[in-house]
Amino acid sequence: MRCEICGTKIVGKPLRTKIEGSVMLACPKCAKLGKIQREPPKKAKPKFMKSRPRRSEPAYEVLEDYNIIVREGREKKVWSREDLAEKIYEKVSVINRIESGRMMPDIKLAKKLERTLNIKLLEKTEETSADEFRKSSLKGATIGDIARIKKG
Ligand SMILES: [Zn+2]
Repeated sequence: MRCEICGTKIVGKPLRTKIEGSVMLACPKCAKLGKIQREPPKKAKPKFMKSRPRRSEPAYEVLEDYNIIVREGREKKVWSREDLAEKIYEKVSVINRIESGRMMPDIKLAKKLERTLNIKLLEKTEETSADEFRKSSLKGATIGDIARIKKG
């Protein structure tokens, strides 16, 4: 690291000094010519770790029979694949792939299809936390059972 002002090799840490409005990294001698800047404050560590956001939004899963549901929904409306594609602003090839089961729509697209076709494509998935799972799996277990589990 060389001083940006005089070019001398700086031993150790260069000082930040403000000269004519610009901050330079300078040797201690040159630094005195300007206004020495304090070290930029280190990013303060957050006092507490943000706890992982609990999933407030329910998770969704696209139903397995999505291709049949979409096709039947579309046929009920007496729409061609082109009609449907136009209504959801997608390419016909997308509809083709969905209806043939070659492409599972993502949640966003599935929601769009649900609204447009008046169908149900998404299923709420129940997310059980590991804790709840443990509790429920131990429910009804006798102390002896638990001891056995612990012993392995
Ligand atoms: Zn210097």
